[in-house]
Amino acid sequence: MELVCPLCNAMASYLIKCPKCNHSMENTGAIQDYFDDYSTYLPMEITQRIDGVPYDQCLHLFYCGHCHTDKRISVDRIYI
Ligand SMILES: [Zn+2]
Ligand SMILES: [Zn+2]
Repeated sequence: MELVCPLCNAMASYLIKCPKCNHSMENTGAIQDYFDDYSTYLPMEITQRIDGVPYDQCLHLFYCGHCHTDKRISVDRIYI
């Protein structure tokens, strides 16, 4: 058995509504996947929040192309 994120493995999709304009938001991927490349540009506050995510959750970034809002959603990893 392996603990995986259902979104990263295309086993599920989340429908997230934009809190500002109610358009559906696009999953731009797991924050961990590109965290290394961008970590130097992130303020300390975000770094600490990412570090605080439990191992059994995958933090995804959703983006609204309509009003350019982004939102972090933690996804529960599942055993496969
Ligand atoms: Zn994921
Ligand atoms: Zn929006």
